[in-house]
Amino acid sequence: MSTILIAEDEARIASFIEKGLRAAGMTPTVVGDGRAAYDYAMTGGFDLVVLDIGLPIMDGFTVLRQLREARNDIPVIILTARDSITDTVAGLSGGADDYMPKPFRFEELVARIRLRLRETDRAPEATVLRHGGLSLDLRSRRADVDGRNVELSAREFALAETFLRNPGQVLSREQLLSRVWGYDFDPGSNVVDVYVRYLRRKLGGERFVTVRGVGYRLAESDDE
Ligand code: CA
Repeated sequence: MSTILIAEDEARIASFIEKGLRAAGMTPTVVGDGRAAYDYAMTGGFDLVVLDIGLPIMDGFTVLRQLREARNDIPVIILTARDSITDTVAGLSGGADDYMPKPFRFEELVARIRLRLRETDRAPEATVLRHGGLSLDLRSRRADVDGRNVELSAREFALAETFLRNPGQVLSREQLLSRVWGYDFDPGSNVVDVYVRYLRRKLGGERFVTVRGVGYRLAESDDE
Protein backbone atom coordinates (compact mmCIF):
# COMPACT_ATOMS: atom_id res chain seq x y z
CA MET A 1 0.00 0.00 0.00
CA SER A 2 1.36 3.42 -0.95
CA THR A 3 2.19 5.83 1.85
CA ILE A 4 1.66 9.45 0.91
CA LEU A 5 2.86 12.49 2.84
CA ILE A 6 0.51 15.48 2.52
CA ALA A 7 2.09 18.81 3.46
CA GLU A 8 -0.80 21.28 3.53
CA ASP A 9 -1.64 23.87 6.18
CA GLU A 10 -5.23 24.52 5.07
CA ALA A 11 -7.22 22.01 7.13
CA ARG A 12 -10.11 21.83 4.67
CA ILE A 13 -7.87 20.95 1.72
CA ALA A 14 -5.68 18.61 3.78
CA SER A 15 -8.68 16.62 4.97
CA PHE A 16 -10.18 16.56 1.46
CA ILE A 17 -6.96 15.03 0.10
CA GLU A 18 -6.51 12.71 3.07
CA LYS A 19 -10.02 11.25 2.87
CA GLY A 20 -9.80 10.86 -0.88
CA LEU A 21 -6.45 9.08 -0.79
CA ARG A 22 -7.66 6.75 1.91
CA ALA A 23 -10.72 5.92 -0.21
CA ALA A 24 -8.33 5.27 -3.10
CA GLY A 25 -6.56 2.64 -1.00
CA MET A 26 -3.51 4.67 -0.02
CA THR A 27 -2.14 5.51 3.42
CA PRO A 28 -1.94 9.29 3.88
CA THR A 29 -0.24 11.29 6.64
CA VAL A 30 -0.82 15.04 6.99
CA VAL A 31 1.68 17.62 8.22
CA GLY A 32 0.96 21.33 8.41
CA ASP A 33 4.33 23.08 8.09
CA GLY A 34 7.47 22.95 5.98
CA ARG A 35 9.81 21.82 8.72
CA ALA A 36 7.66 18.77 9.51
CA ALA A 37 7.28 18.08 5.78
CA TYR A 38 11.06 17.93 5.38
CA ASP A 39 11.59 15.81 8.51
CA TYR A 40 8.85 13.31 7.61
CA ALA A 41 9.98 13.04 3.99
CA MET A 42 13.53 12.35 5.16
CA THR A 43 12.45 9.36 7.27
CA GLY A 44 12.22 7.26 4.10
CA GLY A 45 8.82 5.98 5.20
CA PHE A 46 6.89 7.62 2.32
CA ASP A 47 6.46 6.83 -1.36
CA LEU A 48 5.47 10.34 -2.47
CA VAL A 49 4.91 13.88 -1.14
CA VAL A 50 1.99 16.16 -2.01
CA LEU A 51 3.57 19.51 -1.19
CA ASP A 52 1.79 22.85 -0.83
CA ILE A 53 3.93 25.91 -1.68
CA GLY A 54 2.50 28.29 0.93
CA LEU A 55 3.47 26.53 4.16
CA PRO A 56 4.38 28.05 7.55
CA ILE A 57 7.98 27.95 8.91
CA MET A 58 9.47 26.89 5.57
CA ASP A 59 7.77 27.19 2.17
CA GLY A 60 7.34 24.29 -0.24
CA PHE A 61 10.13 25.47 -2.55
CA THR A 62 12.59 25.44 0.34
CA VAL A 63 11.43 21.99 1.47
CA LEU A 64 11.91 20.66 -2.04
CA ARG A 65 15.34 22.28 -2.48
CA GLN A 66 16.56 20.91 0.85
CA LEU A 67 15.29 17.43 0.03
CA ARG A 68 17.15 17.40 -3.27
CA GLU A 69 20.28 18.87 -1.65
CA ALA A 70 20.12 15.98 0.81
CA ARG A 71 20.00 13.65 -2.25
CA ASN A 72 16.48 12.57 -1.37
CA ASP A 73 14.70 11.81 -4.68
CA ILE A 74 11.21 11.03 -3.34
CA PRO A 75 8.57 11.96 -5.99
CA VAL A 76 6.97 15.34 -5.20
CA ILE A 77 3.72 16.79 -6.53
CA ILE A 78 3.44 20.51 -5.79
CA LEU A 79 0.12 22.19 -5.06
CA THR A 80 -0.02 25.78 -6.18
CA ALA A 81 -2.48 28.61 -6.65
CA ARG A 82 -3.51 28.99 -10.26
CA ASP A 83 -2.19 32.57 -10.42
CA SER A 84 1.36 31.60 -9.44
CA ILE A 85 1.95 28.86 -12.00
CA THR A 86 4.85 30.79 -13.55
CA ASP A 87 6.72 30.77 -10.23
CA THR A 88 5.88 27.11 -9.79
CA VAL A 89 7.22 26.08 -13.16
CA ALA A 90 10.41 27.93 -12.23
CA GLY A 91 10.37 25.88 -9.02
CA LEU A 92 10.20 22.65 -11.00
CA SER A 93 13.80 23.08 -12.06
CA GLY A 94 14.45 22.74 -8.33
CA GLY A 95 13.58 19.08 -8.65
CA ALA A 96 9.80 18.72 -8.34
CA ASP A 97 8.20 16.06 -10.44
CA ASP A 98 4.84 17.60 -11.14
CA TYR A 99 2.47 20.33 -10.04
CA MET A 100 -1.29 20.73 -9.59
CA PRO A 101 -2.93 24.16 -9.80
CA LYS A 102 -5.54 24.79 -7.09
CA PRO A 103 -8.42 24.21 -7.17
CA PHE A 104 -8.02 20.76 -8.68
CA ARG A 105 -10.21 17.76 -9.29
CA PHE A 106 -9.46 14.96 -6.90
CA GLU A 107 -9.40 12.32 -9.64
CA GLU A 108 -6.73 14.31 -11.43
CA LEU A 109 -4.53 14.44 -8.35
CA VAL A 110 -4.93 10.69 -7.78
CA ALA A 111 -4.15 9.99 -11.43
CA ARG A 112 -0.91 11.97 -11.15
CA ILE A 113 0.02 10.30 -7.88
CA ARG A 114 -0.58 6.87 -9.43
CA LEU A 115 1.48 7.83 -12.46
CA ARG A 116 4.44 8.94 -10.29
CA LEU A 117 4.22 5.83 -8.15
CA ARG A 118 4.18 3.65 -11.25
CA GLU A 119 7.23 5.39 -12.66
CA THR A 120 8.99 4.54 -9.41
CA ASP A 121 7.75 0.94 -9.33
CA ARG A 122 7.95 0.25 -13.05
CA ALA A 123 4.92 -1.97 -12.47
CA PRO A 124 2.61 -2.85 -15.36
CA GLU A 125 -0.18 -0.30 -15.61
CA ALA A 126 -3.88 -0.70 -16.28
CA THR A 127 -4.78 1.97 -18.80
CA VAL A 128 -8.15 0.58 -19.87
CA LEU A 129 -11.03 0.17 -17.41
CA ARG A 130 -13.78 -2.25 -18.49
CA HIS A 131 -17.22 -3.06 -17.15
CA GLY A 132 -20.16 -4.76 -18.86
CA GLY A 133 -19.33 -3.78 -22.46
CA LEU A 134 -18.17 -0.28 -21.48
CA SER A 135 -14.48 0.48 -21.76
CA LEU A 136 -12.56 3.65 -20.91
CA ASP A 137 -9.07 4.14 -22.23
CA LEU A 138 -7.44 6.42 -19.67
CA ARG A 139 -4.58 7.39 -21.91
CA SER A 140 -6.46 8.34 -25.07
CA ARG A 141 -9.57 9.41 -23.06
CA ARG A 142 -11.64 7.27 -25.39
CA ALA A 143 -14.92 5.66 -24.32
CA ASP A 144 -16.45 2.67 -26.12
CA VAL A 145 -19.76 0.89 -25.60
CA ASP A 146 -19.83 -2.59 -27.14
CA GLY A 147 -16.99 -1.57 -29.43
CA ARG A 148 -18.68 1.65 -30.57
CA ASN A 149 -16.90 4.94 -29.79
CA VAL A 150 -18.89 7.46 -27.70
CA GLU A 151 -17.91 11.12 -27.27
CA LEU A 152 -17.71 12.16 -23.62
CA SER A 153 -16.84 15.57 -22.23
CA ALA A 154 -13.91 15.70 -19.77
CA ARG A 155 -16.32 15.84 -16.84
CA GLU A 156 -18.47 12.98 -18.11
CA PHE A 157 -15.35 10.91 -18.64
CA ALA A 158 -14.14 11.66 -15.10
CA LEU A 159 -17.52 10.67 -13.67
CA ALA A 160 -17.63 7.43 -15.67
CA GLU A 161 -14.04 6.71 -14.60
CA THR A 162 -15.00 7.16 -10.94
CA PHE A 163 -17.80 4.60 -11.31
CA LEU A 164 -15.56 2.10 -13.09
CA ARG A 165 -12.84 2.44 -10.47
CA ASN A 166 -15.38 1.59 -7.75
CA PRO A 167 -17.48 -1.27 -9.12
CA GLY A 168 -20.10 -2.62 -6.73
CA GLN A 169 -19.77 0.42 -4.46
CA VAL A 170 -22.57 2.90 -3.80
CA LEU A 171 -21.16 6.38 -4.36
CA SER A 172 -22.91 9.24 -2.62
CA ARG A 173 -23.50 12.57 -4.36
CA GLU A 174 -20.98 14.16 -1.98
CA GLN A 175 -18.32 11.57 -2.86
CA LEU A 176 -18.91 12.06 -6.56
CA LEU A 177 -18.88 15.85 -6.19
CA SER A 178 -15.60 15.87 -4.33
CA ARG A 179 -13.93 13.34 -6.60
CA VAL A 180 -15.08 14.68 -9.94
CA TRP A 181 -15.74 18.38 -9.29
CA GLY A 182 -13.36 19.16 -6.43
CA TYR A 183 -13.75 20.67 -3.00
CA ASP A 184 -14.82 24.10 -4.21
CA PHE A 185 -18.11 22.87 -5.54
CA ASP A 186 -21.39 23.74 -3.82
CA PRO A 187 -22.58 20.56 -2.02
CA GLY A 188 -26.22 21.60 -2.56
CA SER A 189 -25.81 21.46 -6.33
CA ASN A 190 -27.66 18.87 -8.42
CA VAL A 191 -24.84 18.71 -10.95
CA VAL A 192 -24.15 15.04 -10.14
CA ASP A 193 -27.72 14.04 -11.06
CA VAL A 194 -27.51 16.07 -14.23
CA TYR A 195 -24.27 14.37 -15.28
CA VAL A 196 -25.49 10.88 -14.40
CA ARG A 197 -28.38 11.63 -16.73
CA TYR A 198 -25.91 12.59 -19.48
CA LEU A 199 -24.00 9.34 -18.93
CA ARG A 200 -27.17 7.26 -19.02
CA ARG A 201 -28.14 8.88 -22.29
CA LYS A 202 -24.73 8.27 -23.84
CA LEU A 203 -23.69 4.97 -22.30
CA GLY A 204 -26.97 3.23 -21.55
CA GLY A 205 -29.67 3.95 -18.97
CA GLU A 206 -29.35 0.61 -17.17
CA ARG A 207 -25.65 1.07 -16.43
CA PHE A 208 -25.98 3.50 -13.52
CA VAL A 209 -28.34 2.42 -10.79
CA THR A 210 -30.00 4.98 -8.50
CA VAL A 211 -29.77 4.02 -4.83
CA ARG A 212 -32.59 6.01 -3.27
CA GLY A 213 -31.53 8.53 -0.66
CA VAL A 214 -27.87 7.60 -1.05
CA GLY A 215 -26.48 8.02 -4.54
CA TYR A 216 -25.52 5.83 -7.45
CA ARG A 217 -23.68 2.66 -8.25
CA LEU A 218 -22.55 0.85 -11.34
CA ALA A 219 -24.96 -1.94 -12.39
CA GLU A 220 -23.79 -5.49 -11.73
CA SER A 221 -24.25 -7.97 -14.56
CA ASP A 222 -27.21 -9.58 -12.73
CA ASP A 223 -29.03 -6.21 -12.60
CA GLU A 224 -29.16 -6.11 -16.38
CA1 CA B 1 -1.02 26.84 2.17
